[in-house]
Amino acid sequence: MFGFRRRRDRGEAAGAYDSGPALVLDAVTRSYGTARDGGAAAVALDAVSLTVPRGGFVAVMGSSGSGKSTLLRCAAGLDRPTSGTVRIGGADLARLKPAELTRLRRDRVGFVFQSLNLVPSLSVRENVALPLLLADTPDDGRALAGLAAVGLADRAEDVPARLSGGQRQRVAIARALVTEPEVIFADEPTAALDPATADGVLALLRRVVDDHGRTVVLVTHDPVAAQWADRAVFLDAGRLAGTLDRPDAASVRAALGAPDRRPAHAHAGSPVSPAGRR
Ligand code: ADP
Ligand code: MG
Repeated sequence: MFGFRRRRDRGEAAGAYDSGPALVLDAVTRSYGTARDGGAAAVALDAVSLTVPRGGFVAVMGSSGSGKSTLLRCAAGLDRPTSGTVRIGGADLARLKPAELTRLRRDRVGFVFQSLNLVPSLSVRENVALPLLLADTPDDGRALAGLAAVGLADRAEDVPARLSGGQRQRVAIARALVTEPEVIFADEPTAALDPATADGVLALLRRVVDDHGRTVVLVTHDPVAAQWADRAVFLDAGRLAGTLDRPDAASVRAALGAPDRRPAHAHAGSPVSPAGRR
């Protein structure tokens, strides 16, 4: 159904995706409140279906209140859809026992949120090592390697408050990646960053996809950020309103300006878009 460009080293042989998509949303609806509250239920997400292949990078876009964060929370197993199914690596989240869901979230999924949730009293290294500690597999070496990968090896013993916003965001990414999750969910990770710093963070997410075959789902309202993705999907009032392959900023802006119209697929793309520069 989706036409992500395959990485060259995967080849075109049949069976390249035998292991199945990384993430499948099937008619996912999330509503808040019920008639019991004295009003109609508010539908934050309305029958959204979405498939993200392994090694895919999808940008989820839409105006404020369109359901982006709700989609991300449902997809990541942090929230339960009212109806519909979510599968991560083939596992139907609704069928998992609570302990299994916890383990899946801990071991196979990484989160990067705008509110970073770094622990201020812990060093940068300890923050990155935290998921390993929680998984009972403490490993400072891996935490340090993760910090080196985001260019912060020399700040390992600092506390987060001594770092810039962009550096803290990179710490949060290192922490999200330290358990080597299959899917990384990021909700507006660059919203508070200046453009150059944002670029660095997005390039890092792109590398995780290109060099390590991981899957990234990025929520953003920024057309420039969306350029780093293979595909942009657009939400409008909780509904999937369109998709754009190889998004460039101009096409994304046009799509956001006309959310009712399904954007054209597989446009030529801009040769200077980040996705084209890889
Ligand atoms: P976005 O991230 O695109 O800004 P959200 O997913 O946060 O949008 O919200 C989508 C809709 O769902 C909005 O109308 C919002 O008010 C509503 N909503 C989100 N979370 C809750 C909640 N916990 N209770 C009630 N309504 C909510
Ligand atoms: Mg949001």
